[in-house]
Amino acid sequence: MLDPDYIRKRIRSVPDWPQPGIVFRDITPLLQDPRTLRVLVDLFVHRYMSYELDLVAGIDARGFILGSIVAYELNLGFVPIRKKGKLPFATLAQDYELEYGSATVEVHTDACRPGDRVLLIDDLIATGGTMLAGMKLIGKLGARVVEGAAIVDLPELGGSARLRAAGLPLHCLVEFDARG
Ligand code: AMP
Repeated sequence: MLDPDYIRKRIRSVPDWPQPGIVFRDITPLLQDPRTLRVLVDLFVHRYMSYELDLVAGIDARGFILGSIVAYELNLGFVPIRKKGKLPFATLAQDYELEYGSATVEVHTDACRPGDRVLLIDDLIATGGTMLAGMKLIGKLGARVVEGAAIVDLPELGGSARLRAAGLPLHCLVEFDARG
């Protein structure tokens, strides 16, 4: 039986990065250890193998790492949702608010088909703005995000509540305080 804290204990907390007051929850130790990487991927694969999905979409950049492995293991294709200006073909864009300022994510116009059932993956939910933008992009293509998944939720920042209120079921493996 897996220790419920197995994943949590292996996430590194880096205080005051990238700016004072932020505790960065670093998932790279999970990726670095072959046993931990396998447990991490299997936790998602076990959940989603019965979901009848068409695609996995991952959010730039850590969502690409986890999302593409999960897609491969589920025998599905992978769609990158990228930061503005990185995708070479025709794109759709979605703006979203950051703590200071705003940002834009993009997806290729042929990334999914109307009616596709999509799993949307990122490493962490803070304010929820990034995942909400990804969900809107998939929606603009006529597809549907059936669930959002992340390794970490920072519930204090209200992102997961905001996403659920917007109609997105969410699955996160662990929770942390936003600061501390
Ligand atoms: P948000 O849009 O506010 O939910 O922010 C989520 C995005 O920002 C994810 O792609 C995370 O990788 C990154 N992020 C925000 N806060 C943190 C944090 N404390 N530790 C690690 N990544 C973070």
